Amino acid sequence: MKFRSIKGTYDVLPNISDKWKNVEFYIHQYLSRAGYSEIRTPIFENTDLFKRSVGEDSDVVSKEMYSWIDQGGTDLTLKPEYTASVVRAYIQNNLNSISPISKLYYIGDLFRRERPQKGRYRQFRQFGIEAIGSKYSEQDAEIISIAWNIISELGIQDITLNLNSIGSSETRKKYKQVLIEYLKPNFDQLSESSKKRFNSNPLRILDTKNKSEIEILKQVPKITEYLSKEDEVHFNEVQQRLDDLNIPFSLDTNLVRGLDYYTRTTFEIVSSKLGAQDALCGGGRYDKLVESLGAKSTPAVGFAAGFERILLAMDNDNELVEKNIKKIYLIGLGDKVRSTMTKILGQIRNEGFYIEFDPLRRSIKSQLRESNKLGSSITIILGEKEMEEQCVQIKDLSNGNQQSVPFDSIISYLKSLK
Ligand code: AMP
Repeated sequence: MKFRSIKGTYDVLPNISDKWKNVEFYIHQYLSRAGYSEIRTPIFENTDLFKRSVGEDSDVVSKEMYSWIDQGGTDLTLKPEYTASVVRAYIQNNLNSISPISKLYYIGDLFRRERPQKGRYRQFRQFGIEAIGSKYSEQDAEIISIAWNIISELGIQDITLNLNSIGSSETRKKYKQVLIEYLKPNFDQLSESSKKRFNSNPLRILDTKNKSEIEILKQVPKITEYLSKEDEVHFNEVQQRLDDLNIPFSLDTNLVRGLDYYTRTTFEIVSSKLGAQDALCGGGRYDKLVESLGAKSTPAVGFAAGFERILLAMDNDNELVEKNIKKIYLIGLGDKVRSTMTKILGQIRNEGFYIEFDPLRRSIKSQLRESNKLGSSITIILGEKEMEEQCVQIKDLSNGNQQSVPFDSIISYLKSLK
């Protein structure tokens, strides 16, 4: 084989694509019911958009972006995350003039040149929502509860919601200094990447998975102790609203999230079913992003969840498969039936039934085997004898009843079986 897929990418083959489709369908339905509308943005954007929003010293921007200069000399990047792109579209299309609150969701592919491992890919798929316009705690709680409910209703158990507040940018500025002072005596023991972040983005060190750094951080002052009065009120309200919604959470004062634009609420949902890459979803409030991209200051909150990890954590494959769907298998036998078979297939399919036939012209035995393999609940047989009598044999496999049905009554008969 000469060509292989690129490292960190994968093919979604038919045995798994149904599961993907069902999960996506479910998400579309859930979010529409919650009043969110889908937004689709281009797969690539100006590189500067991500530099400006995500921050130049973040891992994503500094080492993971797929960027190139196109033939016209424009610096472009395959989207490594959605929020910046959605906010760009929100500003460019004046969505604020349509409504003071924009409730948007997306499903799409993202690209990051990370080290591939289970649950971590270079092209991966996320769904997420962005609610742009409200600064109030009930909006934070709605976003968090949607993430929680979707993930749990997909049948994923053993999940934990970790919650924190990183306050406003002033809080973070103050806390950054506290953190630098705290870490200074241990600077030599820090990993190379943490040393690099020490001055520019020391909050990221709190995210570490490195065991000796976790030890160093054991006595670290908590960011929540540096919240302003308003930040604290907001954070307490978010917790109250989550209690109102019966959503359980754990406070994790080290949860600061990697991206620069977060303010106040940060959260993630993790699953103990997954290995090292255990985060199913991450999100939070980003009140400064709209303004930093050049528009009027507008508060916003959102989350992004990774499909691959959700699918890995789902063990009840059939949970979402439409349960009561009746599959029909149409068996055609002999050259004389082809035209009629094709017409019948078209009519039944146009009525909205699930129907398949055998395009390989196999024997009745093979076709029955195929029908069985597909889990059909009805088989329709059309042979030369039936052609002469202008009817088909319809067998209801749930009870074994077989009936001869004239051509012009097939649809009404099938409907009576529904
Ligand atoms: P982030 O955009 O980094 O906040 O990530 C949000 C969610 O996307 C994570 O919780 C993961 O579920 C998923 N995710 C992020 N990066 C990857 C990746 N490289 N491969 C697969 N899923 C990812």
